[in-house]
Amino acid sequence: MIDRSRLATLMARELESYRTRNPRSLAAYQSATSLFGSVPMTWMNKSAGGFPLYLSKAKGAHVEDLDGHDLIDFCLGDTGAMAGHSPAATVAAVEQRFAELGGATAMMPSEDAAWVGAELARRFGLPFWSFALTGTDANRWAIRLARAVTGRPKILFHNYCYHGSVDESLIVIGPDGEGISRPGNVGAPVDVTVTSRVVEYNDLAGLERQLAHGDVAAMLMEPALTNIGIVLPNDGYLAGVRELTRKHGTLLINDETHTFSAGPGGCTQAWGLAPDMLTIGKAIAGGIPAAAYGLSEELANKIARRSDLDLIDVGGVGGTLAGNVLSVAATRATLEHVLTDEAFDAMSGLSERFAGGVRRIIDRYELPWSITRLGARSEYRFVRQPSNGGESNASADAELEDFIHVYLANRGVLLTPFHNMALMCPATTPEDVAQHHEAFEKCIGDLVG
Ligand code: PMP
Repeated sequence: MIDRSRLATLMARELESYRTRNPRSLAAYQSATSLFGSVPMTWMNKSAGGFPLYLSKAKGAHVEDLDGHDLIDFCLGDTGAMAGHSPAATVAAVEQRFAELGGATAMMPSEDAAWVGAELARRFGLPFWSFALTGTDANRWAIRLARAVTGRPKILFHNYCYHGSVDESLIVIGPDGEGISRPGNVGAPVDVTVTSRVVEYNDLAGLERQLAHGDVAAMLMEPALTNIGIVLPNDGYLAGVRELTRKHGTLLINDETHTFSAGPGGCTQAWGLAPDMLTIGKAIAGGIPAAAYGLSEELANKIARRSDLDLIDVGGVGGTLAGNVLSVAATRATLEHVLTDEAFDAMSGLSERFAGGVRRIIDRYELPWSITRLGARSEYRFVRQPSNGGESNASADAELEDFIHVYLANRGVLLTPFHNMALMCPATTPEDVAQHHEAFEKCIGDLVG
């Protein structure tokens, strides 16, 4: 479908335009010589234009870069800013906590924490909560608790999942159908097959085979995959996962860090799921670092009865800054006033409009592509709807993806690097969505003529 020489010519034109349009970002990047890879974190080099745009200001669904361009931000910090940039209620709570009352980290709780625990319990159905600062840490600590309680060594993942920089999760299915280290896995502490198992999403027979080994402490999963495009569950898949994990004595952990887009209680509430644990990071504090993990009553009781576990000091679960009063104040304000039930209705409605418009363009040009939506999040993929991570990964087209990202960035629209993902926040407008559609249609028109 795609003429590769035409794509290369268009890409050269767009890269030239990106360089000319963004001289200050380029200069800032070139002068950051004390930063490893010239960026604050090496993943920021994943910029389709060859260098990152530098942030000057951000408000709601828009950012302004160092060269003064206003950009519609559908990336929203890859979900960290799903509440919109600097939502008023969160800003007020942060100002009050940090400036007026004073204090960010004091090794003392504040009263906001119990409010947040109760709200997370209301939304996700699990009665007991503990805090972390990142989705990665929430997952790491959930995994440790699962191993402690079950006495089993392994954690089970979906093929091409992503749960942060969690050692155990860097496993994919190899040529013989069993797990191998994910390509690029940096400095793995041990061979990943010692710690982990892997299965395709939507494959209940494969899941049963892996669980039957009897060595799986927990299955850590996103209810729908969101890090290899969006892959939705087939009818009965999630019920089957719950039934099989129970049958084999394996704990089920839902990672709702991204799938929170499905609604105020993520997929867990929207689809009536009953995990033993739930982890969530990124968005809950409106952009301030915060994360949390929830425990079922049965599991919490089991852990509490274990007097040999050091949950107070150096036992491997916990962080000094986790649950700090600033993060907790920001979480309370964000959940109470910004990412409310009503806000999710509006975000989902807009996302439907986004996905519908993209689908019409894909159909008009008869492209064999798809767009999948999960509440406030939509993502296009260069293949008809895949049913698992392996299939979705096989359709990756880095050249095409980079081209679309640069093309849109040059026209004031930001998608999420690593994805063709567009997320709606409470401040996103129908006009923002229309501007994306206009640029996307022009892009496809240029590409396929
Ligand atoms: N869980 C999921 C589902 C994620 O997508 C990510 C990050 N993309 C994480 C956890 C880790 O979040 P963080 O990088 O903030 O630790």
